[in-house]
Amino acid sequence: MTDSQRSQTLLRRASWLSFWLGVGMLAIKVWAWWLTRSSAILSDAAESIVHVAAVGFVVYSLRLAQKPPDESHPYGHAKISFFSAGFEGGLISIAGGFILWQSIRQWIAGEAPQNLGTGSLLTAVALLINGWLGWHLLRLGRKGGSLILEANGHHVLTDAWTSIGVLAGLGLTWATGWMGFDPICAMLVALNILWSGGALMWRSANGLMDRADPVVQSALVARLDEATARHGVTWHQMRHRHLGDGHWVDFHLVFTDETTVRDAHAIASEIEREIREEVGPSTIVTTHLEPAEDHERIHGHAPGEMPRLEREGRHHPD
Ligand SMILES: [Zn+2]
Ligand SMILES: [Zn+2]
Ligand SMILES: [Zn+2]
Repeated sequence: MTDSQRSQTLLRRASWLSFWLGVGMLAIKVWAWWLTRSSAILSDAAESIVHVAAVGFVVYSLRLAQKPPDESHPYGHAKISFFSAGFEGGLISIAGGFILWQSIRQWIAGEAPQNLGTGSLLTAVALLINGWLGWHLLRLGRKGGSLILEANGHHVLTDAWTSIGVLAGLGLTWATGWMGFDPICAMLVALNILWSGGALMWRSANGLMDRADPVVQSALVARLDEATARHGVTWHQMRHRHLGDGHWVDFHLVFTDETTVRDAHAIASEIEREIREEVGPSTIVTTHLEPAEDHERIHGHAPGEMPRLEREGRHHPD
């Protein structure tokens, strides 16, 4: 087994662990709600239902993302990561909306929670499990470069914060006897869930839209400037995007008319290697080789200048 296979197995196992702990947590929370009839705990249990659905999708997309490229998906399958993170964010946002609605409803109806002791104990158990699991998933996801697992870690940590909010609500109700604390804490919990759900969806949309990472952008420009100057060539029209498991970079290189194809290819391959070194080993670099003088005759504009069609608002990369 290679290192990357071992790390992929580790990530898949972590996603299954997250799934089964989620199922266990759903059982604990439904039980706690049955005992207490607390608004905050019901909200927490409702989140657990979408939670299990979301983590089920995480398990599936992680498997898919790890599949090597094939004929129908020549760029690989890792882009499902962005969809998975967005789907998870969408589901927990729905749960956040439900919690908000439920706590307002309970506030108006004036229902009081019961069995606060047992309810608090069960919530504390859920808090400990989620706190550990969230930390574990975040650590593994960052180490293994998996956005799917990292997003799931953020989600599980949000759930740990939810449990803290629920505990605060029950504790304050118990200490003061004022029933308003339970729905107030539930609302704060809901706002926190909506916030992290929104953040996950934002990140996923940026990934799907191939938003250029400014840090990668400036690193690429600096390295390209330096490498091309050293090899006595120039570059233009660099583009880069992240497909979920690695960067894809392409740019044009301009050589003198006298350079042979063999020499140009050797220099281009060397620059491609240096770019991979800069951005990371899973980076894929493609270059387009051009002669300085003939560029204008073939493409209709000087190297690095805007093509005529692009100036008129149409896309025509060359
Ligand atoms: Zn959750
Ligand atoms: Zn080649
Ligand atoms: Zn060009």
